[in-house]
Amino acid sequence: MSELITNGPVSFETAARNICEAGRILDSKAMAPATSGNYSMRVDDGSFAITASGFHKGRLIEDNVMRVDAEGKALEPKKPSAETLLHTQIYRHYPGANAILHVHSGNGVVLTRLLGGDVLLAGYEMLKVFPGVNTHEVKVRLKTVDNTQDMPALAELLEPEIAGLAVPVYVIRDHGFYVWGKDMDECLNMCEAVDHMLGLELQVLTFKGLPKKGFFV
Ligand SMILES: [Zn+2]
Repeated sequence: MSELITNGPVSFETAARNICEAGRILDSKAMAPATSGNYSMRVDDGSFAITASGFHKGRLIEDNVMRVDAEGKALEPKKPSAETLLHTQIYRHYPGANAILHVHSGNGVVLTRLLGGDVLLAGYEMLKVFPGVNTHEVKVRLKTVDNTQDMPALAELLEPEIAGLAVPVYVIRDHGFYVWGKDMDECLNMCEAVDHMLGLELQVLTFKGLPKKGFFV
């Protein structure tokens, strides 16, 4: 069985290896330009493993991953990602989430730059990647928030809604998206699928033109 497929929280060492592997995979799919993005996993001692700030995710080594506590405070003398607070918020609301990926999806940036409101994905076979979705005949709304550098404000904005999201994803306009899963394998699959569907939406728009209304709400 792949080390990426796990049954719950893992050791810090396993988490660090999984995070490095995720970085190489996402870099190969153009979802990790420069030092963008941040990744984390729930650790079996109650702490969290997260990428330290400022490293290229395609070239991560295990020393670039660090421990933080449930409040996002560093448990070792390294600088955690600026967006650590958003990771700990997801873990707090989703006890079954053991891995989180935040990527600067180019498809997500262009799509949300063109259209306002939440991203709506409908009719895609690939929607079945989400837990509980068994058919393409659904409309899935991806909560979409405006970009900001004020992470506490963004966390506060998300707080009332995050526990009730239809799928384990939210989008940040002009920036990228967050996705979480029960292990790194599931999380990577959803990450690829979301980026793929955002890219397809973009292609549809290219041919159909911008909707007057009702396409995105
Ligand atoms: Zn980011």
